Amino acid sequence: MSEKIIVFTDQRAQAAYVPDVLQAPTGSLRDRLDRPLHDLRISVTDRCNFRCVYCMPKEVFDKDYSYLPHSSLLSFEEITRIAQVFIEHGVEKLRLTGGEPLLRKNIEKLIAMLAQLKTVHGKPLDLTLTTNGSLLARKAQALKDAGLQRVTVSLDAMDDAVFKRMNDVDFAVSDVLQGLDAAHKAGLGPIKVNMVVKGGMNDQEILPMARYFKGSPFILRFIEYMDVGASNGWKLDEVVPSAEVARRIGAEMPIEPVSANYTGETAERWRYLDGGGEIGLISSVTQAFCKDCSRARLSTEGKLYTCLFATRGHDLRALLRSGASDAEISGAVSHLWQARGDRYSELRTSQTSLPASARKVEMSYIGG
Ligand code: SAM
Ligand code: SF4
Ligand code: SF4
Repeated sequence: MSEKIIVFTDQRAQAAYVPDVLQAPTGSLRDRLDRPLHDLRISVTDRCNFRCVYCMPKEVFDKDYSYLPHSSLLSFEEITRIAQVFIEHGVEKLRLTGGEPLLRKNIEKLIAMLAQLKTVHGKPLDLTLTTNGSLLARKAQALKDAGLQRVTVSLDAMDDAVFKRMNDVDFAVSDVLQGLDAAHKAGLGPIKVNMVVKGGMNDQEILPMARYFKGSPFILRFIEYMDVGASNGWKLDEVVPSAEVARRIGAEMPIEPVSANYTGETAERWRYLDGGGEIGLISSVTQAFCKDCSRARLSTEGKLYTCLFATRGHDLRALLRSGASDAEISGAVSHLWQARGDRYSELRTSQTSLPASARKVEMSYIGG
């Protein structure tokens, strides 16, 4: 009998440390490797209606799996308050994620609250959301009306049978395509489509996906299958390197690299020589991009992670719910960011063999 994997949702997080001397935020916080704090990813739920094999495998996330109780979740007011603190430290981009963020009840209300916030330079934030697309056809217009600027939609295959094997809940490709269409019509662009490539599962879909999205309003990005969490049974030989993705596409539809839009962009951009648009390659495994990583992650229950592969978070909710002032929360955030030296992907080869890697938090908990 196989051993049951217990999913680690970080019960060890400690209340974030508040320094004795509180300094006013400067809007340009830097970590130990001189990386700014530019991007906050907020997980709004740990639940999902898909069971993607690389993220929430059915054997682990089964009917007995206990999700967080509603009282553990940050409220919309708490999320907005924390977001404001991060903005004062220089954050310009907020991404809502999960689990499946569109499953969070009244998500439009949260979006409307976040859409009111402005960067330290008085500009609108880059407010976006990553979704599996299952509820997008129904919700796209309401999301736009609430103030969402754009969406990223995950889709792992054009072939229904392959897609259903990936999402493991029998969800059809055509329903995601309808969601994409609705998002496009609502003006939630530029829309990116993320395909996680798992060797031996969906890599035969690289070309059909590239053909379908070439010349469309959507930017297709290929993501290397990552060793996030501890439940997906990740193996290095199931990673299809981005270089191989580029080789396969280029052999049929010639492409060339394009320079990055901004420092810290996760995807390497390539364009079709015939003017058919662009694709992105996210090489988290074969070409680590920790050097420019400016992302912090807030879990569903308010723990702050300074790396996707962190083994421990820092409890901001404990501060919020014990009456801490904004200045104290801000002090805790600057202390954490200034102490940050994470560069897991750069060190991956030596770390994945360590037992400690089995205690990494799950992607559905921390937010992708
Ligand atoms: N449910 C939403 C979705 O699927 O778009 C948002 C959350 S999901 C965790 C965010 C992103 O992480 C998705 O694009 C998903 O494909 C990606 N992801 C999840 N597990 C991954 C893994 N093991 N390797 C690479 N990407 C992964
Ligand atoms: Fe759900 Fe997204 Fe994870 Fe798939 S990748 S199981 S859709 S959270
Ligand atoms: Fe950023 Fe951590 Fe990913 Fe490196 S491994 S890019 S530090 S999240």
